[in-house]
Amino acid sequence: MRTDAGRRPLAARLHHKGLALTTRLAVEPILGTPFLSLADEREQWVLQNESEREAWRAEALDRIVRYAVRCVPAYAGLEPRLDHFPVVDKQTMIDRPDEFLSTRRDEHRVVWKHTGGSTGDPWNYPLDRRAWAEGYATQIYRFREFGVEYGDPKLLLGFPTSLGLNHKSRIRRLRFAVERTDVSLASIEVDGTRSLERAVQACDRHVRMWYGYASTIASMAAAVLDAARTLSGPPLIVTMAEPLWPAWHRDIVDAFGSTVVEEYGANDGGIMAHRCEAGNLHLADHQSLVEVLDDEDRACPPGQPGAIVVTNFHARHMPFIRYRVGDIGIEGTLNCDCGRAGRTLTAVTGRSGDFVLLPDGTQLVPATFFLPFNQVEGVRRWQIVQPDPRSLVVRVEPRASFNADEKKTILSWVRQRSKDQLDVRLSDDEPFELTSGGKHRIVIRHF
Ligand SMILES: [Zn+2]
Repeated sequence: MRTDAGRRPLAARLHHKGLALTTRLAVEPILGTPFLSLADEREQWVLQNESEREAWRAEALDRIVRYAVRCVPAYAGLEPRLDHFPVVDKQTMIDRPDEFLSTRRDEHRVVWKHTGGSTGDPWNYPLDRRAWAEGYATQIYRFREFGVEYGDPKLLLGFPTSLGLNHKSRIRRLRFAVERTDVSLASIEVDGTRSLERAVQACDRHVRMWYGYASTIASMAAAVLDAARTLSGPPLIVTMAEPLWPAWHRDIVDAFGSTVVEEYGANDGGIMAHRCEAGNLHLADHQSLVEVLDDEDRACPPGQPGAIVVTNFHARHMPFIRYRVGDIGIEGTLNCDCGRAGRTLTAVTGRSGDFVLLPDGTQLVPATFFLPFNQVEGVRRWQIVQPDPRSLVVRVEPRASFNADEKKTILSWVRQRSKDQLDVRLSDDEPFELTSGGKHRIVIRHF
């Protein structure tokens, strides 16, 4: 599936060979974690057959649950079987940190990670360097599949510059410099003029890959299309942090002509997945086991949305076992049409707690409303807000082509799914509400 590695000029190939050697001899030992070596191993691992990989995973799972029973106070005395472990969430681990830290944690070097700032619920937590490397290795080998080699120039979009070359960690700055990664276009504001400027600047950099917030890159694309400009984007654009809506995907392809791949990840817990051409999110099977569970912590049948719960095979300093990451998802097939191996999710549909509440007590999760928005051409972004128990506002950001028929299609679908229990109106001129970190949410309830 690697696209053009063989066609690179000699100078580029030499650069990559040199960089790979330097990374293995110097950067990996300094960081204490073999991320590039793991990426190479992972390429081989996915070539094994399904039963060999499943056997490895069963062993890895057995090792981590036995370790947890032995070394983690919260799990002392449990039978070492995953389904005997309670499902835990971030708040539980924040409230009782000592119970979730291993008594042998000094044996496992960590990086300190930060999560949840964008949802207003921040947490600093230790993650084993080995567990961190698994996620990074997955990105390296997945990006390779799409023609971007480790060390190709990359541009991060929508991140604060403090995460890049101005990062307070010297080691991070070193790694970014070695990898030719640059951070640009910080901040989360998304007005049209700024977005167009950003798009022009980003294209002028002539990097091989952009990596950034889905909404940031979608806004850049929308601004380019609105201005009737044609820009030449990088070969690969990877969007992260937010779902990549079909309308956004179309706009980005139309504006920049790039291959666009959606990434879903949860650093806490350790999930990494990339959406393939056939539409499924391929999970990093070597990193963790992902379950999709219903309200009573039972496995959801295929196609039914449920809580995404992860068990990390590699985190020992503070194991993440049956950890609810706070997203709602739908499990996908093992035999994806694209030919890639392993487990998948078909969708990540929103955050837990994001639902519309009907007067009869029914909860409508975001996926309930997707259909018309994926069908109509005239809507670029949408958001459903329930200001009180009896009413619902459908906010849309329209394109010039948005028309009365499309409006009717949307309204009748939303009214029908709401069982006609709510007073539904559509607005095309209200600002969208974002999370404190600038993420777009599609369902918001104000009570
Ligand atoms: Zn696939």
